[in-house]
Amino acid sequence: MTSYTVYMDQLPGLLELWAKEFQVHVPVEVEEGIYDFVPWRKDEEIAWEYDVAYNTLKRFFLPPRETLLRFDPAACTAEVVCEAPKQLLFGVHPYDVKAANQLDTLMRKDVPDNNFIARKKNTVIFALEPAAVARNAFWASVDAHKVDNGYDLYWTRISSASFHVEVATRRGKELLLAGGPLDLATDADKEATRRAHQRIVKESLRNGLKYPWRETADILSRAWDSTLWQHRARHCFSCGTCNLVCPTCYCFDMKEELDNSLTKGERYREWDGCMMDSFSRVAGDHNFRPHTRERFRHRYYRKGKYIFDKIGQLGCVGCGRCVSGCTSGIADPKAVFNELWEADRHDS
Ligand code: SF4
Ligand code: SF4
Repeated sequence: MTSYTVYMDQLPGLLELWAKEFQVHVPVEVEEGIYDFVPWRKDEEIAWEYDVAYNTLKRFFLPPRETLLRFDPAACTAEVVCEAPKQLLFGVHPYDVKAANQLDTLMRKDVPDNNFIARKKNTVIFALEPAAVARNAFWASVDAHKVDNGYDLYWTRISSASFHVEVATRRGKELLLAGGPLDLATDADKEATRRAHQRIVKESLRNGLKYPWRETADILSRAWDSTLWQHRARHCFSCGTCNLVCPTCYCFDMKEELDNSLTKGERYREWDGCMMDSFSRVAGDHNFRPHTRERFRHRYYRKGKYIFDKIGQLGCVGCGRCVSGCTSGIADPKAVFNELWEADRHDS
């Protein structure tokens, strides 16, 4: 695979070129120690060493609220809405690329989600090797420290003034060379990239699952009646934060609204979350998961078993956002799975 060396002082020119065609988003420190992706501006200081972006990047493919249809009841007409801006995400860590890939696979399955697919197709992703591991992250132990698709370029910072950039797609190469030719990467640059990857994976592995992640579905198949669900869920506020911050959660609710004149309306979708009481409330005020323990268990079965049974992947990339977001301190997939694994070992 072709790779280049890009120097820090070449970046402003490239960013300006990319911004002519795309809405470019980059990670910045929005508050002390808190990072997020924001629209790039010339004076924006990019946080190359960010640990995790506070907001999940799924919002670029599946916005929190999205209009799907506009209708006119009087005229009996409806128009499909599919907005897919050209966007470029620069600096996406591999676990977030992996999460986006997983959503892509699921959104194409059965009935394809055209809006998601259009947005994803119009999004250029420049991945970035992490230089720091967030306190609650455990991505290497769930195999999310590497990806082999779903990005256009893979950037690794190899010195304070330079990056090693691996080309993954023709679109990535065209954008990288938009400002003119660049130096091909040397063997020393490639070696520095390999070392940077090894170092960060080692750091990430300090915190994680105590067993091979592929065993999770099997462990869960024997954990339905575990006391862990009640024990942990009694502290749950059903706030849904763990769902909303998660890059692999994609449930949404559909709603229709008419304007005040009752002549125009729209159908839209909004993020929803299985941890909230309203999620499983259906007609007749029946709730098929009325207790927090049932909703809590469902979430971990979804992450560890249901997605795995569907596509052979863990529904968790170990970003740790839910761990940080949960005010009760109970939403930690690795803690839940490790505890179930210990109990399973003890029982067998
Ligand atoms: S379950 Fe938690 S740690 Fe896993 S991907 Fe979702 S937010 Fe990240
Ligand atoms: S586990 Fe935590 S974040 Fe999730 S719904 Fe319960 S209290 Fe909220």
